[in-house]
Amino acid sequence: MTRRQLLVTGVVQGVGFRPHVYRLAHELALTGSVTNTAAGVVVDAQGPPAALAELVRRIAADAPPLAFVREVRTQDVPEDPALTAFTIAASTSDAGPRTTVPPDCAVCAACLRELFDPADRRHRHPFITCTDCGPRFTIVTGLPYDRPSTSMAGFAMCADCEREYLDPADRRFHAQPVACPVCGPRLWATDGSTRTDGDEAALAVAQQVLATGGTVAVKGLGGFHLAVRADDEAAVARLRARKHRPDRPFALMAASL
Ligand SMILES: [Zn+2]
Ligand SMILES: [Zn+2]
Repeated sequence: MTRRQLLVTGVVQGVGFRPHVYRLAHELALTGSVTNTAAGVVVDAQGPPAALAELVRRIAADAPPLAFVREVRTQDVPEDPALTAFTIAASTSDAGPRTTVPPDCAVCAACLRELFDPADRRHRHPFITCTDCGPRFTIVTGLPYDRPSTSMAGFAMCADCEREYLDPADRRFHAQPVACPVCGPRLWATDGSTRTDGDEAALAVAQQVLATGGTVAVKGLGGFHLAVRADDEAAVARLRARKHRPDRPFALMAASL
């Protein structure tokens, strides 16, 4: 038995890294823990030397799609017979060097499939996300990256979401922004005086504003999109004047070519 401590640095938080290490450790029958610290991901692993070497290799080689491993620093520490399982430990926020804030990431193919599946419980859920996609930088309020350090802190998970969050086999295992229409944020719309709450109702307000030549500011990852009806000359002219873009093309959205 050997026990080794690993410090993994790079883009390793908010990208499914702890679940990745957890699955590897279980596959290699190692004991110990993985945790987020302000310096990066710290792995404490104990087992046969060959399995530990394989862990170090695959931590980087098989990293999740959104992760970027800059360095894996290893250090042997005295073995501990009391380590009998491998766990994801609570994050610690110590002083010292800061890890990288994970970037926002566009919705992934698996989430898109759910989004448009009428049978899925996240059908048309505007805030759909998983371990491989969704908001990170936009919602982070502190490090290490964990739900209490995001703007999702105020949303308690429902039983279904919690089951996904706790299941190592689920693609939302330890996805910090996990939520659904039952427990997550909802759409709301305002014209500055009246507020309309609820996904469908808020969407209907936005559609109405667009249809009648108004401008809608859609809050998304990292900022706002300003939208007007592309075939409404007056609405487009007003947007051009406000944005000081008399000639440059705007992005155009259409249901199909
Ligand atoms: Zn996804
Ligand atoms: Zn939920």
